[in-house]
Amino acid sequence: PTHDQVLNFGAGPAKIPIEVLQTAQSELLNYDNTGMSVMELSHRGKTFGKILADAKQNLTKLLNIPDNYEILFMQGGGTTQFSAVVYNLLAAKGKADAPVDYCVTGSWSQKASEEAKRLGANVNIVFNTKKSTGAYTSVPPQSEWKLSGSDAAFVYYCDNETVHGVEFNSIPEVDSSVPLVADMSSNILSRPIDVSKFGVIYAGAQKNIGPSGVTIVIIRKDLLTPLKSAAEIATPGLVTPQLLDFKTLADNDSLYNTPPTFAIYMSGLVFKHMLEKGGVEAYTEANDRKARKLYQVLDNSKIYKAPVATDVRSRMNVPFRIYPEALEAEFLKGAEARNMVQLKGHRSVGGIRASIYNAMGEDGVDALVAYMKEFEGQHQA
Ligand code: PLP
Repeated sequence: PTHDQVLNFGAGPAKIPIEVLQTAQSELLNYDNTGMSVMELSHRGKTFGKILADAKQNLTKLLNIPDNYEILFMQGGGTTQFSAVVYNLLAAKGKADAPVDYCVTGSWSQKASEEAKRLGANVNIVFNTKKSTGAYTSVPPQSEWKLSGSDAAFVYYCDNETVHGVEFNSIPEVDSSVPLVADMSSNILSRPIDVSKFGVIYAGAQKNIGPSGVTIVIIRKDLLTPLKSAAEIATPGLVTPQLLDFKTLADNDSLYNTPPTFAIYMSGLVFKHMLEKGGVEAYTEANDRKARKLYQVLDNSKIYKAPVATDVRSRMNVPFRIYPEALEAEFLKGAEARNMVQLKGHRSVGGIRASIYNAMGEDGVDALVAYMKEFEGQHQA
């Protein structure tokens, strides 16, 4: 099948707009009359410098990023940020044993909290819905959260849990002196956000932006802290590795070492494409409609079941089960036959998961909805 025939519901790496891929294709062998591919350009040259500057400028426009924030392009994926935020924000706090608060709503925030513990940080679990309710399918009311208050070095949460399909419907209210850290790997650019409420926002590119290999970090500038040596910090394990240090990256405009140049270029093309299509607001409306259509089928079905509480259902990743569960394999097979691919749920939870990021058109969701109805018609309990 061709790219426009395949409906890619993968959770990441995920679909990239065909227009962006076509632009990249047309520029592949000769970028801007250099006679070279972007991936062959020096990261310190003028041509790549403009690619980087444009990507930053367009992301700033898309998210209305205030002047007192820095955009970094890092490597190592979302997982590397699990470690980086701990190092950087404990350094900013100047107190290696300050509590670090983790809201656990799914496997990604769980992993992040485990990494903080492993690094020796003083982890406070604000809540863990799997422990309190048996499943990652909800977010408790804030009145039940156990925050550390102004002592905390940061409060951490995952805005959209890609595996479990739990998405926050508002920004957590935390002590104004405590930086809020959000993993937005799977829902950045899907709706407007008030960046000024955050200390750090980060997102691996490979879901809602572009190819894997680059991670976007948006950090409030006052949190950038000079690198400390082991002698200067009480917990030697918490001395920040140079390449995880946000200030080092910021001081060098993400060019301390060789950045993932091609991934930055592709991300920049996506930012430009999004601006041409009406910016984040235009995508928000489409995303809301797409998700509503899918949940409607799930809620009006005898064989499908969406496990997540209605108030925190993800607009990006829609996990569901089919009963009896033996039907799931047949559903996936039929989907493949219709060129609807990568619908299998994450290996840790099973079932089905439809990821419907910005690049998935409404017609793709309509096709999935039609198939789901047809499948149910054939398998009425
Ligand atoms: N955070 C979230 C919300 C994710 O969905 C993922 C990956 O799927 C990660 C972090 C880890 O990202 P990476 O694989 O880039 O390290």
